[in-house]
Amino acid sequence: MKKEKKKEEKELLTVHSSIDAEQPYHYSAGRYRSRFFVELRDNRKFIGVRCPNCRRVYSPPKEVCGSCFRKMEEPVDVGPQGTIITFTIVRFGFVDPETGTKKPVPYASGCIQLDGADNTISHFIGYDDESKVRVGARVEPVFAEERIGNLKDIKHFRVID
Ligand SMILES: [Zn+2]
Repeated sequence: MKKEKKKEEKELLTVHSSIDAEQPYHYSAGRYRSRFFVELRDNRKFIGVRCPNCRRVYSPPKEVCGSCFRKMEEPVDVGPQGTIITFTIVRFGFVDPETGTKKPVPYASGCIQLDGADNTISHFIGYDDESKVRVGARVEPVFAEERIGNLKDIKHFRVID
């Protein structure tokens, strides 16, 4: 039995396609996320929502607390500055499935905890000096000139200390 499993593991294959495949999709952002994206687009402002039970603040907001499953209805302003909780420096370029192009490397990507929020938001981190990208570094958003109501309305978070 054990021997068969090892043989099977050695024969895992990767199947390559010779055709280009597109998988366009759309989804409803829902009431809470729509409000979040409208505030980003129109006012360059971040909003969250507070749980009435555990008092956690989620941004982007969601309707139900992931910790205690209570419906959340108290809006809270958060950010715009935040703190890097974790990050990685990407040095190996790959094709972005959303754009079909390679993002120039190196670049940083990480989880940002906006001031006043208890969760994190994943985004790109801009920097001039790579040594300043560290856990605990303060960041602020750099907004896109033309905002359309999605997370790309933020170009990246810039290290400010
Ligand atoms: Zn809660």
